[in-house]
Amino acid sequence: MTPIDTTVPEKPRPKLDGPEKPFWDGLREGEIRVQRCENCGRHRFPASRYCPHCHSPEFQWEAVAGEGEVESFCVFHKAYFPGFVPEMPYTVLQVKLDSGVRFFSNPAEGEAKDALAVGTRVRAVFEPVDNDLTLLKFRSAEARS
Ligand SMILES: [Zn+2]
Repeated sequence: MTPIDTTVPEKPRPKLDGPEKPFWDGLREGEIRVQRCENCGRHRFPASRYCPHCHSPEFQWEAVAGEGEVESFCVFHKAYFPGFVPEMPYTVLQVKLDSGVRFFSNPAEGEAKDALAVGTRVRAVFEPVDNDLTLLKFRSAEARS
């Protein structure tokens, strides 16, 4: 008889060595690195070959400040991946940093589930998962400043 597997399935992992490698490397070092267009100067994420604003192919990766605002959020009551079952219901945030880039993320570890609302000022938190992967999460800027 096969024993029942009681381990929690892993969550899906981002591709760390793809076009966003500089972003993931940056998070491990406590920085948010995004592409900055060398023609119009605007920041963008996720990575793309051409600037969505002026179509220039010239860019550099550059660290941006981790302050921004919650633009929207959603509470998930269904786990689309089994690895998320222990955290249900869980919150997904859409954060717009002051540099103009947007991220889908989650509230940082220990943040009250209802602490973040649309318009809340937030700051980045770097949460290591293991040696290779650090996740970008957010915490209310008012709470700890
Ligand atoms: Zn541009």
